[in-house]
Amino acid sequence: MIDLLKKNGPWFKANLHCHTTLSDGNMTAAQVKDWYKSHGYSIVAFTDHSKFCWHAELEDQEFLPVAGVEAAFTCLDLNHKPLKYKLCHINFWAKDPATAEYIPEEPTYDVGVINRYIAAMKKKGWLCGLNHPAWSRQSTEEVNGITGIDTFEVYNHGSFKLYNNGDGQSHYSMYLAEGKRAWATAVDDNHAGFREDGTISVTDDTLGGFIMMSMPQLTYADFADALENGRFYASTGPEIKEFYIDEERDMLVLECSPVQRIIVSGVHTVKAARVDADGDTITRAEIPLAPVREKEPFIFVQLMDSKGNRAYPQPYWFD
Ligand SMILES: [Zn+2]
Ligand SMILES: [Zn+2]
Repeated sequence: MIDLLKKNGPWFKANLHCHTTLSDGNMTAAQVKDWYKSHGYSIVAFTDHSKFCWHAELEDQEFLPVAGVEAAFTCLDLNHKPLKYKLCHINFWAKDPATAEYIPEEPTYDVGVINRYIAAMKKKGWLCGLNHPAWSRQSTEEVNGITGIDTFEVYNHGSFKLYNNGDGQSHYSMYLAEGKRAWATAVDDNHAGFREDGTISVTDDTLGGFIMMSMPQLTYADFADALENGRFYASTGPEIKEFYIDEERDMLVLECSPVQRIIVSGVHTVKAARVDADGDTITRAEIPLAPVREKEPFIFVQLMDSKGNRAYPQPYWFD
């Protein structure tokens, strides 16, 4: 049996992308912690715009604050004013916040600048991921030119709720089809908070996109290991209980909370296999792998329930 979830201990719920009053968020880091902790999250990564902060004081037995930062690369117009509609945002998470060194980014939208920055930050002890490519108005070619990322946002809840362009799934599929590798994430990218007149509500952009991480313990080292090695799945609702290859029968096996549809995709076919039901009745599927393996270098599985909530286990490459 090959466990494609790479389970390595209990599950911990995490939001990898979040803003606080340190940049343009409306909650303090302590308010963010209270809100997420009271809704079943164990991990929040604080990724304020171009401001690296650890918030180590928020750590307790049931909550791990992750030290992060969101870097921005902005297009300029002919008068050197920032173009509002095209940019690139990359999140960075310190593998060990005590030793990771933060380098401020040169904020120019240029694939060379971006890739050199990623390489330099990774050398200084960071993991990184591409954020909200659809909200950033990036073409698939521009995204495919980016190298060195560990993760890729297939879903960004803030962009989805506010602009209906939080879906990174099609960019991600093209990235994988180009032969590139990165783990799929779903995140909140929350900015909203508590305001008495109700104009900025914390429910606007929280508790939508998350990852479930399998880790021996809720420690920083286990978090970094799980993120780097893809011991997690992305979701906006559905739960994935088992996902493995039964080698004896050459069968892909998936067990989940009730969903309506399971789509297996690769490179050469949009759907390599699909299981459909009338309503949310699928909780287990077995998909023969032999015909898929013949054509596809990898498989990427997507689950969808009748409300449109989705879950994404990590891609599996047959090599
Ligand atoms: Zn962003
Ligand atoms: Zn953000």
